[in-house]
Amino acid sequence: MILDKKHAMQQKLFRQFAETEFTKELQEELDTTGAFNWDIHNKMAKYGFMGVKIPVEYGGSGGDYMSYVIMNEELSRQNLVLSIYANTSNSLGGGPLLLAGSEEQKKEYLPPVARGEKILVFGLTEPGAGSDAGGTTTTAIPDGDDFIINGRKCFISGAPMADWIIIFAKTDLSQKGSRGISMFIVDMHLPGVSLGADEKKMGIKGYPTSDVVFEDVRVSKDCLIGPLNKGFQYAMRTLDGGRLGVAAMSVGVAQCALDEAVKYAKERKQFGRRIADFQGISFMIAEMAADVEAARQMTYHAAQLKDANDPEAGVACSKAKFFAAEAANRCAYKAVQIHGGYGYIQEYKVERLYRDARILSIFEGTTQIQQLVIANSLLK
Ligand SMILES: Cc1cc2nc3c(=O)[nH]c(=O)nc-3n(C[C@H](O)[C@H](O)[C@H](O)COP(=O)(O)OP(=O)(O)OC[C@H]3O[C@@H](n4cnc5c(N)ncnc54)[C@H](O)[C@@H]3O)c2cc1C
Repeated sequence: MILDKKHAMQQKLFRQFAETEFTKELQEELDTTGAFNWDIHNKMAKYGFMGVKIPVEYGGSGGDYMSYVIMNEELSRQNLVLSIYANTSNSLGGGPLLLAGSEEQKKEYLPPVARGEKILVFGLTEPGAGSDAGGTTTTAIPDGDDFIINGRKCFISGAPMADWIIIFAKTDLSQKGSRGISMFIVDMHLPGVSLGADEKKMGIKGYPTSDVVFEDVRVSKDCLIGPLNKGFQYAMRTLDGGRLGVAAMSVGVAQCALDEAVKYAKERKQFGRRIADFQGISFMIAEMAADVEAARQMTYHAAQLKDANDPEAGVACSKAKFFAAEAANRCAYKAVQIHGGYGYIQEYKVERLYRDARILSIFEGTTQIQQLVIANSLLK
């Protein structure tokens, strides 16, 4: 697919920003300390990244899914974790409000999120309810005009920095499975909300992740988003868009692996020749190039379907995430292999890339869950 003028310009701008601002020192600092970097967050916010896909009337720049995909691809081509900085507000954070929020809720919460002044995160997963998110056991029990929330959400990206969290909780205990679940926005500073320890992760260090615990947290009914007991469908619809974002990140990671592999294969000499001249190496590079291109085309196609509100868009996002995440992992593996021993050493970018890539097949629905979605669409 050839990008139109607007998207080609955006691609150039995001690429320039990432190449200039995501310095080697910053990337190393994130990976070593695991700490959130407010300076780069504020810089990305200043350029409007946090509101790329949030409509103009709610403080964003009103971009389409294609713009969102291009941003994720270009940022993650330089550094996956920094693409997550810009992604959350545009997908899992802002998504539920855009899908189901009232006008007042959108006006209250979205503008500060789009400007990067507030951080809004997404809490669906629980210790006993991951892929089977309908097994939510967190409860929100009506009490007068309020709800009282009890439960624990786990692996919440950005929780330690968050101002607000979108959560899913059972509001009708008599309904089974994913029925009777509602969606709420909760202020992270309310009494009864606490954080678990920062998780020590394999990769994407620098965007802290932790549990969020709710103990008798009282929220007003104004915090309910969308209709009572019908929240689960919005979680699933939010994840459609989120999966597209992860597919785009995967394309960026796969492209980075290819770039690094090509560069190294041309530089490194063994047996008196460039290793690029060995067919075993050049064929790995050819496979990577084909993987990158296929993943990119599937991702762009899914974005076009989302922008056209096509009924096939949801499955297309799952196909794109399934293929691109696995492709990114294949490419990261080959990039390390092509670097030989140096690929195992932290000084080389591919070492971190390999660790970072692993999350792409896990979060926002594992590879197997994408396969279920794709198979169900064909076999139902
Ligand atoms: C770094 C990180 C950040 C995250 N951020 C967030 C976040 O911000 N918000 C949030 O809500 N969640 C977040 N998650 C949670 C993530 O979405 C879940 O980890 C993921 O959905 C898988 O759930 P699980 O870990 O419970 O694995 P499980 O569901 O227990 O899966 C274990 C294995 O079983 C397979 N499996 C499960 N069911 C089936 C099936 N029906 N058919 C075939 N195979 C199956 C899975 O594919 C997997 O291989 C994050 C996770 C991580 C690691």
